[in-house]
Amino acid sequence: MITNFFGEEIPKTVFISAEQLRDREPRKLYGRYYADTAIYNIFPPELQTRGDYLGQVLAAGSKPGPGFWGVAEQDGVVFYYDGQKIKAEPYELHQSIFSRNKGILETDQMDAKRAVILGCGSVGSLVALELARSGVGHFLLADPDIMEYHNICRHQCGIEDVGDLKIHALERKLLNINPNLEVQSFEGLIQNMPKVMLDDFCVKGQTIFIGCADNRGADVYANRISIYYGAAFLSIGFWERAYAGELFYHIPGRHMPCYECALGNGGDLSARVQANHHVYSNQENLEAVKFEPGISADINFITCIGVKLSLDILNLINPDYKPRLLNHLQQYTLVCNTSDPEIGGDMVGIFSYPLQVTTSLKVGFRPNQCSECCRYEMENN
Ligand SMILES: [Zn+2]
Repeated sequence: MITNFFGEEIPKTVFISAEQLRDREPRKLYGRYYADTAIYNIFPPELQTRGDYLGQVLAAGSKPGPGFWGVAEQDGVVFYYDGQKIKAEPYELHQSIFSRNKGILETDQMDAKRAVILGCGSVGSLVALELARSGVGHFLLADPDIMEYHNICRHQCGIEDVGDLKIHALERKLLNINPNLEVQSFEGLIQNMPKVMLDDFCVKGQTIFIGCADNRGADVYANRISIYYGAAFLSIGFWERAYAGELFYHIPGRHMPCYECALGNGGDLSARVQANHHVYSNQENLEAVKFEPGISADINFITCIGVKLSLDILNLINPDYKPRLLNHLQQYTLVCNTSDPEIGGDMVGIFSYPLQVTTSLKVGFRPNQCSECCRYEMENN
């Protein structure tokens, strides 16, 4: 018997979805029992393999023995412990999970949103989980890497995920937020993803590609593909040690240059950007990319601004949605974690104060070097 400070018994309670409570079929129950709170948390069926075996639901008319049992009665399952009835607290799974988003993000609309997460490391794992918490219903994850110990200090997955592919570790975390999600994954880079996978996944107006691998070549390629599918694109990249970072978005149908025009080799800003970006994006020095330091708090601050932009972009077709950042941030935005050159190096001196977000940088079309967005512009305007 579990008692509180005053020696009073804490009554046992069962948390279970209303749907499972109504289900009178005899079956095994899986989930978690917490002795401190005396709560049985019955997992939804999609997650039952992750739960402990807790007990069984018996057919109508059965007599429960010692321990934890459910019995199918007229209106649904009734729970017993040592023959005594215990209370069930039913919830509507989807509604309960997203109840606190109400009035800000409409769950029905968010269910239809689709995100292609390119790179499932520190940035991609945070982006994916935040979008799942926002109610985005469909994910396509791409990453070739395995979760390792040195990833833990800035990845959303942890020790129990080490050794697994990042795509699978992240999928588990996503389903732990919303078991009804559609999650597809591809073990590799965007450049190698089969077209049929994208054909099936992309829905015009509802899809965003998010470049989270801090890889300029992959971002050029991803933006070309997003234009092909009429989907939006967002890139989240970092300067050395994540002292600052850059966000770039492209929305088809709005007159704006693509990533290749703006930031690809030879773009307007490339000289300045590459000066700051050399460790992360130098493809010939992959070891340096792997071991580039940077702390989670710095990476996540910049990444969360990217997440907010993604939500604004995904909700462009929803007239009742109020965008937070999209009308204020230019297509190319720099965000700094520090303005102190002693910490961040000389280039950080362009910022006046820490946590500054630029709002005035401009990027342009380069019709001679990029056919992709310029052709799209010609065909659609
Ligand atoms: Zn272009």
